[in-house]
Amino acid sequence: MAARQPLIAGNWKMNGLCAGGVALAEAVAKGAGGLACAFVVCPPATLLAPVAAALKGSRVGLGGQDCHAKDKGAHTGDISAAMLADIGCNHVIVGHSERRTDHGETDAVVHAKALAAHAAGLVAIVCVGESEAERDGGRTLDVVGRQVKGSVPSGATAANTVVAYEPVWAIGSGRTPTPAQIREVHGHIRKTVAACLGKAQADGMRLLYGGSVKPSNATEILALDDVDGALVGGASLVAEDFLAIGKSCP
Ligand code: PEP
Repeated sequence: MAARQPLIAGNWKMNGLCAGGVALAEAVAKGAGGLACAFVVCPPATLLAPVAAALKGSRVGLGGQDCHAKDKGAHTGDISAAMLADIGCNHVIVGHSERRTDHGETDAVVHAKALAAHAAGLVAIVCVGESEAERDGGRTLDVVGRQVKGSVPSGATAANTVVAYEPVWAIGSGRTPTPAQIREVHGHIRKTVAACLGKAQADGMRLLYGGSVKPSNATEILALDDVDGALVGGASLVAEDFLAIGKSCP
């Protein structure tokens, strides 16, 4: 099995105006040069064009934070995967818990968005993760397994899909699961992917952990079995912190 190159993806969420976003992208591009892991930044839609320009010639990828399942049409305010690809994206996050919660996105919707991403030539970063009540109720593996089965298309490959495990209660909270809990869920995700897509795709697919990753906990998390990188929210808004997480990759 080829080694999975770690990926550190930054989700800027609804943060950043033009000047600050470009400066952040430029700092990440500069710092990423000497590092071994792969980097992707996912700015808000308004910043995709200037950030694409700032990243030109660097080894930092560009991602959208969401896409519509359709290619074009009467969907006010939405952006298609084809539009993301057109502006220079190579990745897109789908099914982030904030989309699932704020916009009522179901696994079926996330599945359709992942298919659209693939059709546009983008890598879909498919997010899954349990709520605090589901964790407390002992349902984490069931919930996450069901989300993976429902959200990852049957034609997905290790090349066009990344799965991000993001416990909802860990996002932006400063709390993280224990290393044993992360390892358990990532192992379960890999087994579920193997059952759905076959062992070869599962072995090659990157599984990211997301939820309050910062420089101080990154080394421990990124060293865990079946953790192939991180999806980073808050800490991706500070270039130094985001790059420090990248430097923590084994
Ligand atoms: C996220 O929203 O994807 C995330 C992981 O956020 P944070 O790192 O801020 O917890």
